[in-house]
Amino acid sequence: MRPVSQPTTARAVAITPSRPGGVRRISIDVPPPGRDEVGIDVIRVGVCGTDRELIRGEIGFPPAGTDDLILGHEVVGRIRALGPGVTGLVIGDLVTVTVRRPDSCAACQAGEPDMCLDRQYTERGIAGAHGFMAERIVEHQDWVVKVPDHLEPVAMLTEPLTVVEKAVRQAGLIQRRLYHWNLKTAVVMGAGPIGLLGTLLLRSRGIETWTLARTPAPNPAAAIVTASGATYVSTRGQSPMDLAATIPNIDLILESSGSSQVVFESMRILGNNGVLVLLSLTGGHDTHEIPTAELNTSLVAGNKVVVGSVNAGMEDFTNAVASLGRFEGLWPGLAASMITHRFTIDDDLVAATGKLPGGIKSVIEFGKGI
Ligand code: BGC
Repeated sequence: MRPVSQPTTARAVAITPSRPGGVRRISIDVPPPGRDEVGIDVIRVGVCGTDRELIRGEIGFPPAGTDDLILGHEVVGRIRALGPGVTGLVIGDLVTVTVRRPDSCAACQAGEPDMCLDRQYTERGIAGAHGFMAERIVEHQDWVVKVPDHLEPVAMLTEPLTVVEKAVRQAGLIQRRLYHWNLKTAVVMGAGPIGLLGTLLLRSRGIETWTLARTPAPNPAAAIVTASGATYVSTRGQSPMDLAATIPNIDLILESSGSSQVVFESMRILGNNGVLVLLSLTGGHDTHEIPTAELNTSLVAGNKVVVGSVNAGMEDFTNAVASLGRFEGLWPGLAASMITHRFTIDDDLVAATGKLPGGIKSVIEFGKGI
């Protein structure tokens, strides 16, 4: 007989999107897993910039029928219960979970919810579906991704890593327009978690990488960049244009600075035949003057591509798990050093979800799972 749990209560971290600014502990009923579902004991959940935007009320909405939204979309946990029909997963498996659930559009129905056309999708912990910041969660087996046990300390980085896995995969697909693409030189804009994971991904593939951010070195992000063999550049000391003049043709830029101005600076420094992948969802209404004629001429004459990329597909999750394994082999403990602050659900949740000085990634620890 398969062990199936009874309904149980669990503590969770929630916001009320209609009343921005608050984040609090709530108690929830967790149902036993239904058909094709698994129950997961959450071990750890990462806090990301998107969570802070949710708390500020800039994005997000709760599931139908409730005012509350449980946060969290970067999770690692262990399977503790199996519903009927589950195959390929067993009790005790270490897992992470994808974020987006499809709507009825053609892209979602073709199996690519990250390429959704109608944008009626739901996203766990973000848009219309509860997230993973809870002691226990239930999920359909289709969205659960196995992770090897030795990656437990870093497995909640899988989801943010999928964002850059998709970016690099998309760039590769796009560059099939060329008879030959020799990806040798890359620039990463921003040294937050996405920029750092992008840096590690590119370095793990042997690509010469420059990672640009405002804060001068030394700082914890610069240390990670340098340890991976990439070059950290503070834009306080050197502008992107100045840097571009001193390095080889920039074949790929991953833009994750969060600044729409940097998006356009990135277009200006992209090399011939290069791809600029935009990953920052910039809120607000910033406007800037841009040299439109110069930009256009350089994009046209240099056969350059600018592409947006959001969320990630299932293959990006399996690739990200493999990449985390490679990172550990290349630089043991380096990805884990991105976790600069650890909290529990009993701690001050405003501090736990806030931006902390020198902080890269905060996590909320829920337990060790079974
Ligand atoms: C998540 C993505 C999500 C996006 C927009 C990001 O923080 O990593 O999965 O699609 O937010 O909601």
